[in-house]
Amino acid sequence: MYVDSHCHLSFPELAEKLPEIRAAMAAADVDRALCICTTLEEFERVHALVLAYDNFWCSAGVHPDNEDVREPSVEDLLALAAQPKVVAIGETGLDYYRLGERSVADMEWQRQRYRVHIRAARASGLPLVIHTRSASADTLGVLREEGEGRAGGVFHCFTETAEVARAALDLGFYISFSGILTFKTAADLRAVAAFVPLDRCLIETDSPYLAPVPYRGKVNSPAYVPWVARQLAEIKKLDVEAVAAATSRNFELLFSRTVT
Ligand SMILES: [Zn+2]
Ligand SMILES: [Zn+2]
Repeated sequence: MYVDSHCHLSFPELAEKLPEIRAAMAAADVDRALCICTTLEEFERVHALVLAYDNFWCSAGVHPDNEDVREPSVEDLLALAAQPKVVAIGETGLDYYRLGERSVADMEWQRQRYRVHIRAARASGLPLVIHTRSASADTLGVLREEGEGRAGGVFHCFTETAEVARAALDLGFYISFSGILTFKTAADLRAVAAFVPLDRCLIETDSPYLAPVPYRGKVNSPAYVPWVARQLAEIKKLDVEAVAAATSRNFELLFSRTVT
């Protein structure tokens, strides 16, 4: 049985096809999924979805790329974190990939938002789901400054270097690999995956984006997470069953509220 540790089932392209997706998940032995919240405005939709199905859970947070949305306070996030089936804070983090005309200094609002999430994670005891793109030094730096909290978390959709992975592992975080691991051009990332101990690895789809080979370019769904597991198994020279079991166990250890 496989777990998708990061997907966006509330996004319209997936929400519209939920019965088909759930059937495909069952056929592919994907028994659980964590649905990630990206705005406060979206939370009610994500939460209703996970309350409707036993094998879905969700996070509460505002994605660093989302501008012109309600800015969360620590209190806002704590109120959502107290709701049933909310098992994580995020996705949060830093993303300097789309700076456009701006400089890194102009992104103070993003760093401030990230700090709010870290404080909410510490206060709630829930793990953080961290997104980092073109911003790894600041992502780690702010985490260290704030104190990463007791509950740790995961660097999701990991595409950084082994050095960044080492630093995240040293802070007690897990590393989650997505369909990018299967891309032909991702040899460097496969080397990083070889380095990360299996007991600290998670797998995810980040669907509807980033469908793994052989579905690259198509709409992704949690039903495709076994392709990430197969690639990780090949890298680690293990049976896919061993990777499925380890990543499921890691998911339960990190998101302990998913275990009843
Ligand atoms: Zn992300
Ligand atoms: Zn995401």
